[in-house]
Amino acid sequence: MAQYVSKIIILGSGPAGYTAAIYAARAGLNPCLISGFEVGGQLTMTTNIENFPGFPLAVSGNELMQKMRQQVLNMGVTIIDDKINGVDFNCRPFVLSSENGNCFQTECLIIATGSSAKWLNYEAHKKYIGKGLSTCATCDGFFYKNKTVAVIGGGNAAAEEAVYLTNFASKVILVHRRNELRADQILQQRIFKNPKIEICWNCVVDEILGEDDVSGIILKNVRSDEKKKIQLSGVFLAIGHTPNTEIFKKYLKLDEDGYIVTKPDSCATNIEGVFAAGDVQDKVFQKAVIAAGSGAKAAMEAQKYLSSL
Ligand code: NDP
Repeated sequence: MAQYVSKIIILGSGPAGYTAAIYAARAGLNPCLISGFEVGGQLTMTTNIENFPGFPLAVSGNELMQKMRQQVLNMGVTIIDDKINGVDFNCRPFVLSSENGNCFQTECLIIATGSSAKWLNYEAHKKYIGKGLSTCATCDGFFYKNKTVAVIGGGNAAAEEAVYLTNFASKVILVHRRNELRADQILQQRIFKNPKIEICWNCVVDEILGEDDVSGIILKNVRSDEKKKIQLSGVFLAIGHTPNTEIFKKYLKLDEDGYIVTKPDSCATNIEGVFAAGDVQDKVFQKAVIAAGSGAKAAMEAQKYLSSL
C-alpha cells in the first residue's frame, strides 16, 4: 500500500483522460493519471478507426490508445495502473482509495471514467468480440460489405447503427424485444423506409453461433417462445451504455441514467474542484474525438480552479 499526494489527479485512460493529462502537464500541474484496469478504455475493443483526425490510413483502437499513453508519459505524467474504488469528497484534499490498496490525496480531480457498453451475456459472448460481435457500427461496419448483420436494440443508437450499416451490408436485421421502437420518430421513419432493413419484433438473442467468428444467431420470440436460426456475419449490440459513476453517486449530481451532470458549457460538477470529462458526462455523442476535446476543457478549467486557491 502506498500513499500518493498530487495537486491534480485524473481518473481514466480513454481519450478524455489522456487529453486532460496532456493539457494539465503542459500547464505545469504535474498530474497523476490513474488508468483503471481496462487501460485505454472502450476504444481498445474496436478495430480500425478512420474518423480520428491525423490518421489518414486509419489506426487501430489499440494503437491509438498506446500512442496517447506514450504521449502522456513523454510529458512526464505519472501513470498508475490501478482502479479507484472509493472516494471521499467531504474532506479537502479529496481522498481516493484503490483496488490495489493505495491511498491518494488531491486538491483537484478530473473524472474521465467513461461508460461501458452493455453486453447481453458478456461471459458467454466475449470470445466473439472483434470476431463478429461489436458495440460500434461506425468503428466496425466497414468490414461487413455485402454481408448480413443484426443490430440489437430499439433506441436511437440501434436505429442510427442499423441505417449506417446499410451503407455496407446487404441486409440489416434489427432485433427488438418489444413491438415498438423507442428511437426518435425521424429515425424510425428512416428505418421503416429502408429496403435493406428487416425488423424482428418481440425478439431477443437466445444464442450467438460460430466456431471462431460469428456465423449466426438464434432468436427467440418473447411472446410465442418460438425460436429461429438466422445465418449472418455480424452482431451489433446497441442496448445502451452504463456510465462508470457508481463510486461517485453519493457526492455528485447524476442524471436519471447515471451520467455526471456538469454545468452548462463547463466540465465543472456540483463539487468545487471536481470536474468530469468525456463519456461519463456525455450520453449523446460518445465519440473519441469529442471525449478528447472534453478532456482538454476539463484540464483548462482545473488549471483555473487551482490557480484560484
Ligand atoms: P437506449 O437506452 O435509448 O436504448 C436501448 C435499447 O436497447 C432500448 O430499445 C432497449 O429496449 C434495448 N435493450 C436494453 N437492454 C436490452 C436487453 N437486455 N436485451 C434487448 N434489448 C435491450 O440507449 P441508446 O444507446 O440507444 O441511447 C442512449 C442515449 O443516447 C439516449 O438518450 C439516446 O437518445 C441518445 N442517443 C441519441 C442519438 C441521436 O440523437 N442521434 C443517437 C444515439 C444515442 P426497450 O426499448 O424495450 O427498453
